[in-house]
Amino acid sequence: MSLELVNIGSDKFREECGLLGVWGHPEAANLTYLGLYAQQHRGQEGVGIVSIDPTAGDAHPGPKRASDAPSNGGFAVHKGTSLVADVFKGFDFKKLPGSVAIGHVRYTTAGGNSLANVQPFVAQVSLGKVAIAHNGNLINADQLRHSLIKDGAIFGSSSDTEAILHLIARAPKSISVEEAVIRALEKVQGAYSLLIAFRDRIFAVRDPAGLRPLAIGKLDGATVFASETCAFDLIGAEYERDVEPGELVIVSDKEVKSYFPFPRAQPSPCVFEYVYFARPDSNIFKKNVYPIRKQMGIELARESGVDADMVVPVPDSGVTAAIGYSQEARIPLELGLIRNHYVGRTFIEPQQSIRDFGVKIKLNANAAVFSGKRIIVVDDSIVRGTTSRKLIDMFRRAGAKEVHLRISAPPTSDPCYYGIDTPRKEELIASKKTVEEIREYLNVDSLAYLSLEGLYRAVGSEPGTMCDACFSGNYPLGTPEKPGGPAQEELFGESS
Ligand code: SF4
Repeated sequence: MSLELVNIGSDKFREECGLLGVWGHPEAANLTYLGLYAQQHRGQEGVGIVSIDPTAGDAHPGPKRASDAPSNGGFAVHKGTSLVADVFKGFDFKKLPGSVAIGHVRYTTAGGNSLANVQPFVAQVSLGKVAIAHNGNLINADQLRHSLIKDGAIFGSSSDTEAILHLIARAPKSISVEEAVIRALEKVQGAYSLLIAFRDRIFAVRDPAGLRPLAIGKLDGATVFASETCAFDLIGAEYERDVEPGELVIVSDKEVKSYFPFPRAQPSPCVFEYVYFARPDSNIFKKNVYPIRKQMGIELARESGVDADMVVPVPDSGVTAAIGYSQEARIPLELGLIRNHYVGRTFIEPQQSIRDFGVKIKLNANAAVFSGKRIIVVDDSIVRGTTSRKLIDMFRRAGAKEVHLRISAPPTSDPCYYGIDTPRKEELIASKKTVEEIREYLNVDSLAYLSLEGLYRAVGSEPGTMCDACFSGNYPLGTPEKPGGPAQEELFGESS
């Protein structure tokens, strides 16, 4: 019998990364582990934690003292290419000592899924040892890498994040650590929420457009950072505020400082965090996700109501919007699709003779619920259309009389360059087919998407105040081919 590993990830855009940082807590690494566990949905292919013991050795390079810890300079690392629970199964957290830690969960997009690409990255630079974790994507990464390699840099990964480390490493010894980080970030373009940890301070920063989230919390006098506030809930931290777009927060034992060192830009936080990526119990960009996602269903029902017997959500992504749709349309919500929660991202596919079970391994249509009924199926997106088509086929075979598909976001017609794993434009069904053509392809009785205006109404923001490029093609920072940010300056003009 030939066995084959098959990726059964659903046909969705995928969040690339989640961050967690702790400054000033005796159980920093353990808290980081828990905070990453809560954010597992933001990245399932790699996890890493770097802990720092600020009391071990000198904070800056210089003559060693007899009491100094040996070679690691107070930094300890544990990483793996799997889920948080797997990578840390049976792990002894005494191996990650210290009151400071940063951690990262990731998907594979830029570069392969090798251990070398799992963050945080650690490097020894002239300013001391440094660790970095990044949520986002740099649109000038290729140019940066090319220039850095030309200048003698040796890359240990294929990640764009490593370029930031190399830029920090090139800072002249005469400038402060703050200045070195600011000068490095002035050279990057794109989306970044970053945690950068030296032994005596931690930097938390969001790019000037604030594409990706990053929040600050407090726990027993310690400062914590997380992509999503659901991480704070798990570790018992209290949300304090967001790191603002373009803000650089520096936390040390002495103080917490805040700078806005970069040219101001129009904030453009990612609207898709509300549509799909973030957990419904998280606050993202200062708003709770659940009521917004529910409102998307309400707006959808107002825009494109249809007479039917029941509303059926596609679990889990369509559930919250379906609740809103059902309440607004006064049509009962029924769980006609049942999800197997124990299916991993990959499974061993059996022999050809019993292979043709498609999405049924993950979702099963319960005929007893809707046989002979007119159903409204609610989901948050159609990416390639392949999974949706199989789902609709499942509903038909199970006896649904009519199938009306409602999508709680506009058609995803364009790829993301700002830290989200999306297929190429030509693979997105909405980039090449009209809504009517998609309806025909999916074999549904009717199909409607939420309008962009309806999406902004649900979020409670003015149209155009967030990044909506995957729906509109309007990229606030430009694309890698067409950078829209400030002209690229000579990389090493002032620092080499
Ligand atoms: S294109 Fe913009 S809105 Fe779409 S996923 Fe990327 S950052 Fe979010």
